[in-house]
Amino acid sequence: MSNVDAQELAKFSALAHRWWDKDSEFRPLHEINPLRLDWIDDLASLRGKRVLDVGCGGGILAEAMAVRGATVTGIDMASKPLGVAQLHALESGVENLDYREISAEALAAEAAGTFDIVTCMELLEHVPDPASTVRACATLARPGAWVFFSTINRNPKSFLFAIVGAEYLLKLLPQGTHEYARFLRPSELARHVRDAGLALNATQGMSYNPLTQRYRLGSDTSVNYMFACRKPG
Ligand code: SAH
Repeated sequence: MSNVDAQELAKFSALAHRWWDKDSEFRPLHEINPLRLDWIDDLASLRGKRVLDVGCGGGILAEAMAVRGATVTGIDMASKPLGVAQLHALESGVENLDYREISAEALAAEAAGTFDIVTCMELLEHVPDPASTVRACATLARPGAWVFFSTINRNPKSFLFAIVGAEYLLKLLPQGTHEYARFLRPSELARHVRDAGLALNATQGMSYNPLTQRYRLGSDTSVNYMFACRKPG
């Protein structure tokens, strides 16, 4: 059984042509991108590294990491976003960047232990079995590598902000983008990370201020948050 929800892929495929439009449904990803990029780069130093971006979509983070000097492979299970990512890389003339339609689990079977950095951002809340994705990311990392995750916490506040606020009131995201039951508490993700043999190195909160319409990094992990993990080695 593959760890894929066809409805999820269909949602992202239907919107794929707007992926690089900063005023589209993907605006939140564009807004958080410089923040997460700097956080990753500060910890793991992207230049010259071999990076895998799991669930890369239209390539907002993958391409930015390649611009910082990493050699990046982006993988996703939806072909339309991947096509958009490829086209955008071509247009912007970014090299050291390639895209493949393959699952993390399948790639783990052929390329275990080959990446210096694995990023898996805003994906876990869209897959049926997040623990399996975390395990695959851990397998793909070489000993000593960094593995980054980001997802959405599960509590009344995240329901209010990430679903009611973002999808219904502010309409930052289309209705139905996120399913509350798939959100992951940091304690749950920490367990998946540990079970996969990774060590949790740092946690970072990402919060949205509806008044200034800005995201910022901080200690508040109640809605959006990121994990930086390392594979022992
Ligand atoms: N990681 C990117 C995109 C996040 S949107 C970013 O943060 O900028 C979520 C992406 O996950 C979409 O591109 C969707 O097609 C992809 N996705 C959903 N289920 C997947 C799965 N099982 N395997 C790989 N990618 C998946």
